[in-house]
Amino acid sequence: MKLSAEFAKLPSLVETLTMPLANRSADRVLGARGCLFTFHRAAPSHIWQRLPNRAFYLDLAFLDRLLSYLKRTGWDIVTVEEATRRSQQGSDRRYVNFSVDDGYRDTFEHVVPLFRSHAVPVTLFVTTGIPDGTLPMWSAGLEEVLLERDRVVLLDRAIEVATEDQKRAAFRDIAKSWDGPAAGELYARFCALNGIDQSAMHARHAISWDMLAQLGRDPLVEIGAHTVSHARISALPEHAALGELAGSRDRLASELGLPIRHFAFPYGRSGDCGPRDFDLARRAGFSSAATTRKGLLRRGHDAYSLPRNTINGDRCSLAAMEAHLTGLSGMAARLLGRV
Ligand SMILES: [Zn+2]
Repeated sequence: MKLSAEFAKLPSLVETLTMPLANRSADRVLGARGCLFTFHRAAPSHIWQRLPNRAFYLDLAFLDRLLSYLKRTGWDIVTVEEATRRSQQGSDRRYVNFSVDDGYRDTFEHVVPLFRSHAVPVTLFVTTGIPDGTLPMWSAGLEEVLLERDRVVLLDRAIEVATEDQKRAAFRDIAKSWDGPAAGELYARFCALNGIDQSAMHARHAISWDMLAQLGRDPLVEIGAHTVSHARISALPEHAALGELAGSRDRLASELGLPIRHFAFPYGRSGDCGPRDFDLARRAGFSSAATTRKGLLRRGHDAYSLPRNTINGDRCSLAAMEAHLTGLSGMAARLLGRV
């Protein structure tokens, strides 16, 4: 127990230790490497502060600072296409990629414009059930209701959510109790009880096909697939898993008229996608598939189990980013068994 408590301190220790490495001397030790980052949503600082589920979002001001920092410290910001090319063929440069998963409206309104202002590319891994309106965005809807109201009605009671602490606690508890196959149904009942127009709510949070078509014409935007229904691929029988992979690719390709070459597994940890699923991504015709296992991309890494480092909105500091860029957060995760 004592040892595991010590291990639990590793991530913050890693941050403290890696900051001094954040210079060229790190390259002599670590060499050329790639680091793939991923996140879901982003919001302006004044909104981010108030969000009940703000760990799920990046503060746009931080993202702006991070992009400037990476450019200033000699990192190339590249597409997944280029990252996989470099990992296969070798590169003497350090490179990073940013991928934004699922498909939220703020990707169109805030995230892509920020990358454009830095003249660097960004990758979007889209779950096609979002622009198609077939995937209930229960987490986004729940969060908005909690943010806007002082009181919400649940199945068996009403609760006060007037303060930011109450909103955050309510989001945590309700999301936990809904998470699973019944989430869509529970959310629909919640919307009915609270007088929420579910389709209007969906439109406020979902990226649309029109938005994706605009983004698809931008040379700085790379679009990849992220399943049809945001299913946990490892939990599906083979034919259903292949349907999620190929179905999302085909839907994006036909709607946008673009080749869709890269895929990202939903959830992406070791319990969510494994060797069978990496092989399915290859058989479905993708050029690469990304997980959310932390770590660095080195020469010769398997293209169908790419590591990605999830950026948590609550832990946004350049020191935390350096822990990813040096690979130490990946080492800590493996030590802690968080893979
Ligand atoms: Zn996702």
